[in-house]
Amino acid sequence: MQPEALFGLALGIVSPWEVTAVEFNKESSRLDISIDFKRGSLFPCSVCGTLSPVHDTTEKQWRHLNFFQYEAYLKARVPRVKCPNSDCGVKQVQVPWARAGSGFTLLFEALVMTLCRDLPVNVIARHLTVTDTRLWRVLAAYVAKARAREDFSEVRRIGIDETASKRGHNYVTLCFDLDRKKLLFGTEGRDHETIEKFVVDLEAHGGKAENITDAAIDMSKAFIKGVAEQFPHAETTFDPFHVVKLMNDALAKIRAEEARAFPELLKKSRYLFLKNPENLKPEEEQRLNEIIATQNLESTEAYLHKLNLQNVYFADSRQEAEVLLAEWYKMASSSGLTLIRKMAATVKEHWNGILSHFDSDLTTGFLEGINSLIQAAKARARGYRNPANLITMAYIIAGKLNFKSLFPLPT
Ligand SMILES: [Zn+2]
Repeated sequence: MQPEALFGLALGIVSPWEVTAVEFNKESSRLDISIDFKRGSLFPCSVCGTLSPVHDTTEKQWRHLNFFQYEAYLKARVPRVKCPNSDCGVKQVQVPWARAGSGFTLLFEALVMTLCRDLPVNVIARHLTVTDTRLWRVLAAYVAKARAREDFSEVRRIGIDETASKRGHNYVTLCFDLDRKKLLFGTEGRDHETIEKFVVDLEAHGGKAENITDAAIDMSKAFIKGVAEQFPHAETTFDPFHVVKLMNDALAKIRAEEARAFPELLKKSRYLFLKNPENLKPEEEQRLNEIIATQNLESTEAYLHKLNLQNVYFADSRQEAEVLLAEWYKMASSSGLTLIRKMAATVKEHWNGILSHFDSDLTTGFLEGINSLIQAAKARARGYRNPANLITMAYIIAGKLNFKSLFPLPT
């Protein structure tokens, strides 16, 4: 078998296309595979599908999977056809080995889509010797294609969360289907308008705002307002993860402030206070107990409020939870610590939404679990962490999108 025929077979090139030359250049470490079509071939018009004669051609090249350690390229003159149907005009032909407008073959892009599940994009870029900007464009294109096929008509219970794409700036809002445990929508910003954009996207995928029965959110005014405006039938729940996180933020500030007065005692104690007690190692638990036993620290008081608040979530019913929360509120609101009283006031203000967690049975650990997926997305977007790329990676990791069906590759 001639190399041209062999490569034609391996690449799945079929008539009217054929491999016409295979050139290996040792100096430039590359393999060039030339593809051409037979003179007089007809191609389907990209608008109406009518077989049409070639009008003119342009030279193009596509990066393909490496041939052993050598970069491989496909080259072809891509025809434009003049459709007999005058409404269509002159149109570029779609080649079977690449996506329109891409400088990569489908197989190369399939490899990128496989690698991006496990490796940071900048690592893949280095490995494949392409710029990460080009890879991000590939990822975004497949996410858009896969999302276009998504059906959100069954979505009933949603969770909304925000994350910082970079430390302290560029917030991103992520909206999840709590029943299917998947990311539905991501957008830049964290104001109430992000919820409006979510509804537009939800309805573009067959969902309905009035079908939403529950929304789990944090206690931000923007999300509360957005949910109230956009989802007329949704019960708002402030999920435990965010309630305890807010409490932990207050505790962390109190401890950090106090650590200045007691540097020796409180040195590197942040995680001792923030971790759940059952996750502490024996030596950490011992040190925390020593700190607590030392004297009347504000950190200790704040820590006890946190444990008592977490304890509310062990309640078996809303009724029991309300008793525990009322006890917690009584203690916290009479605290000498400003930040604890502020936390108490926040809890009071969001009382029903906090307790509705016990009615709605929303999958509680889910948003917390999602947070670790988002951290993974950030790690894989490493070195190029703009909000759009972070959202793209979040869809790949948490969107449960079907990418396989997007590659109609020869088998
Ligand atoms: Zn046509």
